[in-house]
Amino acid sequence: MNLKRVRYHFYGMVQGVGFRPFVYRLAVKKGLTGFVQNRPEGVTAEVEGPPSVVDAFLDLVRQEMPPLAHITTVESTNLEIINDKTFKIISSNAQGHADVHITPDAATCPDCLSELFDPDNRRYRYPFINCTNCGPRLTIINALPYDRANTSMSCFDLCPQCLAEYENPSDRRFHAEPNACAVCGPRLTLLDGDGNAVESSDPVRTAVDLLLSGHIFAIKGLGGFHLAIDAGSDEAVQKLRLRKYREEKPLAIMVRDIDAVRQIARVTPDEEDLLASAQRPIVLLQKNENNLITGLIAPGVPNLGIMLPYTPLQHLLLEKHFSALVMTSANQVDEPICIGNREALSRLKGIADYFLVHNRDILVRCDDSIAFSASGKLRMMRRSRGFVPQPIPLNKIFPSVLALGGELKTTHCILKDNFAFMSPHIGDMETPQARDFFSESLTLMKRITQSDPQIIACDLHPAYYSSQAARELTSEKVIQVQHHHAHIVSCMAENQLEGDVLGLAMDGTGYGPDGTAWGGEFLIASETGFTRFGHLPYLVLPGGEKAVREPWRIGVSLLKTAYGPAWQEIARNLNLCTDQAQMDLLNKIIDGKIHSPLSCGLGRLFDGVAALIGLRRTVSFEGQAAMELEALATGTSAPPYPFILLQKDNEPYRVDTASTIRAVVADLQACRSKAHIAASFHSTLIEIFAAMGSEMRKATGLTRVALSGGCFQNKILLEGSIEKIGSDGFEVYSHSRVPSNDGGISLGQAVIAAAMIENAY
Ligand code: ZN
Ligand code: ZN
Ligand code: FE
Repeated sequence: MNLKRVRYHFYGMVQGVGFRPFVYRLAVKKGLTGFVQNRPEGVTAEVEGPPSVVDAFLDLVRQEMPPLAHITTVESTNLEIINDKTFKIISSNAQGHADVHITPDAATCPDCLSELFDPDNRRYRYPFINCTNCGPRLTIINALPYDRANTSMSCFDLCPQCLAEYENPSDRRFHAEPNACAVCGPRLTLLDGDGNAVESSDPVRTAVDLLLSGHIFAIKGLGGFHLAIDAGSDEAVQKLRLRKYREEKPLAIMVRDIDAVRQIARVTPDEEDLLASAQRPIVLLQKNENNLITGLIAPGVPNLGIMLPYTPLQHLLLEKHFSALVMTSANQVDEPICIGNREALSRLKGIADYFLVHNRDILVRCDDSIAFSASGKLRMMRRSRGFVPQPIPLNKIFPSVLALGGELKTTHCILKDNFAFMSPHIGDMETPQARDFFSESLTLMKRITQSDPQIIACDLHPAYYSSQAARELTSEKVIQVQHHHAHIVSCMAENQLEGDVLGLAMDGTGYGPDGTAWGGEFLIASETGFTRFGHLPYLVLPGGEKAVREPWRIGVSLLKTAYGPAWQEIARNLNLCTDQAQMDLLNKIIDGKIHSPLSCGLGRLFDGVAALIGLRRTVSFEGQAAMELEALATGTSAPPYPFILLQKDNEPYRVDTASTIRAVVADLQACRSKAHIAASFHSTLIEIFAAMGSEMRKATGLTRVALSGGCFQNKILLEGSIEKIGSDGFEVYSHSRVPSNDGGISLGQAVIAAAMIENAY
């Protein structure tokens, strides 16, 4: 008989995802012989049989592979016939798995879910059911390779039935490392607020009852604890906000299923896919008018952060009695999420009334990821659980570099070969706990990549914690990278661009090489350098940090710039500031440049305009005014206001928005609707971006535009810019898998440092 033998090398996410048993089952089904084996760099399979069957094999692998598997490359080689009689799984060779990607945690799969609710199944209502296609991964790993002994499942001995599944190549739980059942696996325990065990034969049932009566729960999840309450209860939400010192910041909710989501929010097919994906991020969705969720969950904003349940325990909790639970990361203000039972008991004391815990340790802190959909694409705002540690593929092989990120929304990034490995969201580096998490993350990233880069990239800001840490971490080389340059190169790296681009970096603030606060930047940038072609206007922030929390002060400074001495009367008319003594004081500190730093951050312009419109005088979290201005403009379109581009003496272009501010005031005085003014303000910004883009193209001939910075989380701004700049004949690149906010800058820092090192040789 005519036979053919082919060897395939599969690269990508092919270990720990059931890939080998899948290849085994497929080969056996098709009557092929040969073997499949894990290799340090991926999976190798040799198949032998009739040429037509062998030729069709690769397509079948691609079509039918397990849900968590992801092939980046396949190499195939024709071989001599060996006349194998069977198909075998050959056990891993001992060289280790250094280059094999660890998989992220995955939501409970449909098969496990139907077993969970099947009274005849031996895992009926077992809160830790999982299989090769789902369950914890990164968050239970202690060391490589990914074997049970190296996970927090190592202390649970498999019972005979679980062991039989684990060893059977045709079983869905073949080598499912966290495999467990009620006989041999982890268990739930219910504790009161002081950590005393609460007797219950059914902790889930008891927890549901207590949640229904308005209690606050700390519930152990995959990458950390959540604080959970009934999302339909005003009192519970108020109590949680009070105890968590979180007055207005939106809270995420977990909703039973897609049908229940539709009752609460508008959801497009793209968004449904995102919600139901194995990654299960929190997805920002537009609220329905008459939903049953309390208005206190996300006051003043049109969006709700919604996720579907992703652990068996969450499915059990949401089964009957709630359509939605508030599920917010369990932490104190600005601190990292809790993972240990004892840690939770001490750090959440006084916040949680009860604790629903278990004895499977979480080894890696991983917050819920947050995403939205814009211009038909996924947009990450926080990339953590479900996505980490899947690497971002780069366009070429880079020298090994570690980047430490910035000060807020910090992440770390290690470049290895042609991949960028980004850490879970670490957060704001303000508390000692966050700094501990910073060290934890470094250990994790080095373990994941099995590397210890001695070239370290960090921000230019001398006072950032990460900049100080960089110098302590290496004796070799620290490369400091400007914040907005890092933003733009992060966008380039994600889109696999090389060479010069026109970069629009729009955010709150970042340290400029001239020592001023940059933030509305038009850069001509490449991996190795940038020139500042232009920037948004520098605004005076009267009172410095105080002005960030009290945007009415920025409103005053905008008026003063636009009207000169006449500003006081307008401020009085707009009710922005009515106290003469206060106005005189502001005049004095602005003129005398006392406690009044300059910033050209777009975030601050948003704050100031929101204050002028009368949206709010003060904010309780960064970006609040901007979110509300966006909310106001959503669904309204209005023409842009005037602005002027100024340029002299080869200095960077300066966008002058005094005329914009005067037009805003004129519309306010003409009693135009706030929605109209907010929409016109958004249109103005898009118009400014397009006009600056044209100037940059005229000067350089470049046509590729990269959009980055936290302001591009504003959907109106992002979609409007992509459309307008694109229609002007530019190729527009934006972020998708990497956040456009400061969570993405570690990637840019790493690529810049690596490119500079390469250039130096
Ligand atoms: Zn499963
Ligand atoms: Zn068992
Ligand atoms: Fe930034």
